[in-house]
Amino acid sequence: MAPVYQTTASSPPWITTPCVKSLSLSASAHCEVHMKLEQFQPSGSFKSRGVGNLVWRVVQRRSQMNHGSGAKTHFISSSGGNAGLATTTAAKMLGQDATVVVPETTGKYMRNKITAAGGNVIVHGPTWREADDYVRSLVAEDPSLAYVPPFDHEDIWEGNSTIIDELYLQFGGCPPSVIVCSVGGGGLLNGIMIGLDRYNWSDAVTVIAMETEGADCLAASVREGCIVTLPEITSIARSLGIKRVSDKTWEYSQMPNVKSVVLSDAQAAMACVRLAEEENIIAEPACGVSVAACYLPVLREVVPDFCRDTKVVVILCGGSSISAETLVEYRSQYSAVMTAQL
Ligand SMILES: *Cc1c(COP(=O)(O)O)cnc(C)c1O
Repeated sequence: MAPVYQTTASSPPWITTPCVKSLSLSASAHCEVHMKLEQFQPSGSFKSRGVGNLVWRVVQRRSQMNHGSGAKTHFISSSGGNAGLATTTAAKMLGQDATVVVPETTGKYMRNKITAAGGNVIVHGPTWREADDYVRSLVAEDPSLAYVPPFDHEDIWEGNSTIIDELYLQFGGCPPSVIVCSVGGGGLLNGIMIGLDRYNWSDAVTVIAMETEGADCLAASVREGCIVTLPEITSIARSLGIKRVSDKTWEYSQMPNVKSVVLSDAQAAMACVRLAEEENIIAEPACGVSVAACYLPVLREVVPDFCRDTKVVVILCGGSSISAETLVEYRSQYSAVMTAQL
């Protein structure tokens, strides 16, 4: 029996999510599509696993050092997106404090969600870069603060790898043929690859790494044959808006079972609209782009030996930065462009 990820004290700040077969996605994709429902995580995205695991480990380490009687830890994140919300949610679930330093570009909608989850919000600087520099300077001055990066950390990858522990049990030890996931900085992909290795599933599973045009730093690196930093982010999929993937993600992208695919903002956005209507799920375009791979002929084109029986798991990574209003805007903005295809 392969090892299942071991937990120690207290419960982790994430849940086991259902993996549900979708009839409508299966019909569109001409194969068997299952949805791993990460939007059910306490923070609304899979980041509860990775970021949550990092937060959890810090709490465990510090409580061991203090023999369980220490002061609260104050966690600090520089992500105005789902990583900031996951940091806050995990910290609060574990009885700790959280501050999220967000750039001016982070909208009121997400700032309110972070505040509602119990986090302090500080607005600093025009972009994530300045917010992150500020967070790092605060942490350098005050070692009682715990810095939480959004994706580039082994504890984050380990947490994300629990998706595969669950799939192992949910599929009775029999691997799906394909896993579709979105890539921003690559923390999710790294976790999936680590999990596949854990069960010797790497040879059996094709991993499709989805990005949107304008947030496609992995695809650009694959094209160039070396790790590339994008000059700017132009995609609406803000949660994928990282200019450079982690070194580990670049390494994994060289493996023969990893395929990088890029779709447009319109395709990702219209997939969100269809997902809301057909599956009753609201998710960001960062998640929609993975679903779009099922609505469009992507799987047929990139999966080796594709057939009706091909078993696909789409990671519905979720995301809280999406309102009903935004979905309506997507529909009016993109439906004309997309009717023929999606
Ligand atoms: C963070 C995030 C991603 C990208 O994850 P990485 O680990 O940065 O690759 C995708 N979708 C959603 C909803 C996210 O919050």
